[in-house]
Amino acid sequence: MTASLFINGKWTAGSGNRRGKVINPATGAEIGEVAYAEAADLDAALAAAEAAFRSWSQTSAYDRSRILRKAADLSRQRAGVIAESITREQGKPLAEARMEAGSAGDHIDWYAEEARRTYGRVIPARTPSTQQMVLLEPVGPVAAFSPWNFPIGQLVRKIAGALAAGCSIIAKAPEETPTCAIELTKCFEEAGVPAGALNLVFGVPAEISEHLIASPIIRKVSFTGSVPVGRHLGALSAQHLKRTTMELGGHAPFIVCDDADIASVAALGVGLKFRNAGQVCASPTRFLVQDGIFDNFLQAFVAGAEKLKVGDGAAEGIQMGPVAHARRLDAMEGFVRDAVAQGAELKAGGGRIGNTGFFFEPTVLTNVPNSARIMNEEPFGPIAVVNRFGDLEDAIAEANRLPYGLAAFAFSKRTDRTDRLMRGIETGMISINHFGLAAPETPFGGIKDSGHGSEGGAEGIQAYLTTKFVSQMNG
Ligand code: NAD
Repeated sequence: MTASLFINGKWTAGSGNRRGKVINPATGAEIGEVAYAEAADLDAALAAAEAAFRSWSQTSAYDRSRILRKAADLSRQRAGVIAESITREQGKPLAEARMEAGSAGDHIDWYAEEARRTYGRVIPARTPSTQQMVLLEPVGPVAAFSPWNFPIGQLVRKIAGALAAGCSIIAKAPEETPTCAIELTKCFEEAGVPAGALNLVFGVPAEISEHLIASPIIRKVSFTGSVPVGRHLGALSAQHLKRTTMELGGHAPFIVCDDADIASVAALGVGLKFRNAGQVCASPTRFLVQDGIFDNFLQAFVAGAEKLKVGDGAAEGIQMGPVAHARRLDAMEGFVRDAVAQGAELKAGGGRIGNTGFFFEPTVLTNVPNSARIMNEEPFGPIAVVNRFGDLEDAIAEANRLPYGLAAFAFSKRTDRTDRLMRGIETGMISINHFGLAAPETPFGGIKDSGHGSEGGAEGIQAYLTTKFVSQMNG
């Protein structure tokens, strides 16, 4: 019996008997199963979310905040166990999984604090006997869809943001990594989130999204995942006039000017590119390096990539684990084959490692033409392109060439250059001279095809609030 659905405060294996296999990507072995929700289970979750919304939205911000802070503490106490399950089911090195699990508490705490700051405002009226107020109210029951690449990091923002605002939520967590999502949900349950306010489901993603988004009970949809799926869910949501937050893919440029420090920037670039085996929406993919330092930067970057210790993320000292699915290996091979056929030079890696598990070499391509697929599609894997530029305006034009607009990175000691890059690059986020994205108190989100809306920062809770204008004349 696999009880992995949490509906109306109860753990259940659901009303059907469909199950998904959970695979350890480091071995390819089946290590568990996850129960799939049927339509009846989704209807039960919808009814529970609707009923719980009535009471949770009326629970004081003070009490919601207190419960959330308790959930944050529980998540910290259990971070070690949660991290081990992330590594087992998703593959990232234990050190990365520990950071992800450990930061869940910070995200929950941030939203717990924000719950008490959902200020409205008073608008001066035209007559002294009238009061005009703007109230912020929870939007209603939320349907949230979170991906497998950060199975805690992405899920926790949606759950904590919705609950902090006074919304109830049905979260569809990734079928690939159910255990950590279940553990996180237990933290909220044991902290005192009432039955029905948080529901957790797994299943066939398209069935669940179609069922939930079409329901009149759901008032808000939050999705993190690929651009094509985001487009599809955006269209479904528009059909039912549901508000959306879409955190979609990216193809981040990483611009290195000729006055930057080669060794430290190359080391940072290697760390960022191959973190989570490149399966990060903000992962840098196009390294654009200015002529004067191009050869030395490429050499340092390739040396860094070749030195990485790749293996089972559960083993000590591993710096890059497997990719999460066998299908990502096929995708990586396709990107490399296509780029090389179009004249790119392969400087490191390029192929899968062994036949056990889903390992792919840290890969570096250079002189890649813009016609290559890797220059246009998000690789979502351990492949870096290092290309050269001369004039800064050419780098900015290349950065903005794609319809993606999530994250960008830029390196220069000259403020005239960093200022031009900061203003000229079309993304939702830019990190200059360091890595500084994704803290709970900062907004995270993209523009253009990378989506809309922000998670985190003061903007995060706004996604779950509506504006009510009140005009009252003295009776
Ligand atoms: P995919 O497009 O099949 O799925 C992406 C995510 O959307 C998964 O979590 C999946 O469960 C979910 N999904 C798919 N169809 C859905 C539907 N109809 N309704 C609701 N959810 C649905 O791709 P994949 O092979 O799982 O992942 C690889 C691609 O996903 C990458 O190319 C990358 O662009 C994207 N991705 C992005 C992020 C991110 O953080 N923005 C995270 C994970 C995956």
